[in-house]
Amino acid sequence: MDTVTVQKYNLDEEQEKKEIVRHYRALLRALKPRLKKGDRELVRTAFEIAADAHKDMRRKSGEPYILHPLAVAQITVEEIGLGVRSAICALLHDTVEDTEVTLEDVEREFGTEIAHIVDGLTKISTVIDSNTSTMQAENFKKILLTLADDPRVILIKLADRLHNMRTLDSMSREKQLKIASETVFIYAPLAHRLGLYNIKSELEDLAMKYTEQDHYREIARRLKETKRERTRYINEFIKPIKEVLQEEGFQFEIYGRPKSIHSIWNKIKTKGVQFEEVYDLFAIRIILDSAVEKEKADCWKVYSIITDFYHPSPERTRDWLSNPKGNGYEALHVTVMGPNGKWVEVQIRSKRMNDYAEKGVAAHWRYKEGNSNVQESKFEQWFSQIREILSSPDTNTLDFLADFKSNLFTEEIYVYTPKGDLKILPVSSTALDFAYSIHSAVGNKCIGAKVNYKLVPLSHKLRSGDQVEIITSNKQKPSEDWLNIVLTAKAKGKIKDALKEEKRKVAMDGKDILHRKLDHMKASASQYNINELVQFYKQPSPLDLYYQVAVKNIDLRELKQFNVLGDKLEPPKPVKPVEVVHPEEHHKSREKESNKKDAELIIFGESSDKIAYKLANCCRPIPGDDVFGFVTASEGLKIHRTNCPNAAQLLAHYGHRVVKTKWVKNREISFLTGLKIVGMDDVGVIHKITNIISGELKINIAGLTIESKEGLFEGLIKVFVHDKDELEELVNRLKGLDGIQSINRLED
Ligand code: MN
Repeated sequence: MDTVTVQKYNLDEEQEKKEIVRHYRALLRALKPRLKKGDRELVRTAFEIAADAHKDMRRKSGEPYILHPLAVAQITVEEIGLGVRSAICALLHDTVEDTEVTLEDVEREFGTEIAHIVDGLTKISTVIDSNTSTMQAENFKKILLTLADDPRVILIKLADRLHNMRTLDSMSREKQLKIASETVFIYAPLAHRLGLYNIKSELEDLAMKYTEQDHYREIARRLKETKRERTRYINEFIKPIKEVLQEEGFQFEIYGRPKSIHSIWNKIKTKGVQFEEVYDLFAIRIILDSAVEKEKADCWKVYSIITDFYHPSPERTRDWLSNPKGNGYEALHVTVMGPNGKWVEVQIRSKRMNDYAEKGVAAHWRYKEGNSNVQESKFEQWFSQIREILSSPDTNTLDFLADFKSNLFTEEIYVYTPKGDLKILPVSSTALDFAYSIHSAVGNKCIGAKVNYKLVPLSHKLRSGDQVEIITSNKQKPSEDWLNIVLTAKAKGKIKDALKEEKRKVAMDGKDILHRKLDHMKASASQYNINELVQFYKQPSPLDLYYQVAVKNIDLRELKQFNVLGDKLEPPKPVKPVEVVHPEEHHKSREKESNKKDAELIIFGESSDKIAYKLANCCRPIPGDDVFGFVTASEGLKIHRTNCPNAAQLLAHYGHRVVKTKWVKNREISFLTGLKIVGMDDVGVIHKITNIISGELKINIAGLTIESKEGLFEGLIKVFVHDKDELEELVNRLKGLDGIQSINRLED
């Protein structure tokens, strides 16, 4: 697959020439079935122009640059399935931007069609390294514009990106992270939308290799270890089916495919399961060589044969023969109970359908030229949709990007207002999301809804086709827990605004109470005095102080400890703290202490300068984690884990704000992190856990909650550790306890 391998580069001139010719010949071989009269000469000319133009350039790995366009052309032909003209464009894709060759030269030599595509490719890459987020979004918009113009531009661009990802090893760490994130953020979803499943999953795997090195290596290693076992199972499963298919005279291919590393990791993360529970997931694929008019019937015949041997799960049968997916995918999927009580997915499709599945829009492009009979309306629809969005002049580019992305990633539901107006919301949106989608005033007063005339609570999950009527009350007010009920960013933002406003109102009452109290003590309500109180009660701001007074979380009787000098408050002398500290406070002071000393822990860039920074709350890195520094506008440097849920977006949008970071060993400071433990609820389990943590390993516990349900318990433990090694040791020790099912690090 990978035609250019990265290795220590040490070829002499003669060997180098041979290597280039070898790659050129491989490209010609791949193109051979499609070469028409005169094509061979055109490809040769393109190769010669490119080779000459790049002759003094080298890639980061040390290889001659021309190997890159050659590889991109090879991918374009072999893996995306495009033809001669696209291969020529791929060979030339970097010439106009980086060399003396001009667009006019290309047009003179190859005509307007090719010049047009090369121009598109140049335009995309001239803005690709731009530095602001607006430019990045603008850039993405351009990518889609060209797509609407000629899809080949974007397909060749994907080939270019795929080759760059395959050869990312020689880049600097920052470049790797930036390119990998951009790939996850833009290119993988694009490949998915275009139906290029193989390329999409390879892009995701490659990106993960750089953004989550540890997990990637771990899963790859374990997949390798378990390969034999998997192959044996697949063979056992396939055997009887194969025999009958042969007896029935089918022409077919049958094989098993393991899931990609990235999708296994996704399962582990989102479902909270262990590797052992997902590693043996794979799909069996049966590809039939059937004539177009027979393919649908043949697929169902095969279905019937399979279900003679294995029992199907009716809810998990997917008929994409009658209703192809939005991006054109056609197949019949069935999940059956295989040997040893294991569910196995079988995908049945014809060769033509398989071509679509692997080459997506490109296969369409090809079939369209030869055979206009093939279903093309879906693609046309999609292209024209994009064209429409792009041509509207007032679409804010960033909004557009956000919208487009949410359309790529989440599936949508369509729901109706009582008047029949359509609202589009992401899957899993609730009645409350719907209320906020109408207006924030409706959301803030929402007490429930009627869905299809039935009364439901705020948290009710909506489904496509629902008709929703919101019920409001003037007495209603948003509360903190509403944030857990809603899914859409709009609703979250509006609820937070309302809560802030509410807090401010309540705080005003607290202010009155406090002022009266001060009056009573003959002290003034001066800024100075208020600040003394803010400090005394350990509040972040006067507003918080007032609020806590109003909700009676603060005991004003303690004010007696103050002396009043003139109208100034004098705080009581600090008493030596008693040994027993309230756990909450203990934890807070620990955290403050570690924040204060943070500056000693990390070094930025190549220099040994130590700079103050904060650890991001979204991923709570600890020493040993793979991290990067990010310059924020208001809070200075923040340290995130490279696998932080926000990392891809930050890196893809604001790559220029990323600062290289590494940890410096320091055993004095500990960091707060959390673990989620699931296991059998057995007497004394809590004791055993805490015994290991604080007894044997002497790690401080900051918080521990255990909930048990139907014989299982789920524990959330917050601990202070010095670094990743210590955390890992803790996890391993806990895993050794009887009945522990899973232990996962909490992401936030
Ligand atoms: Mn390139």
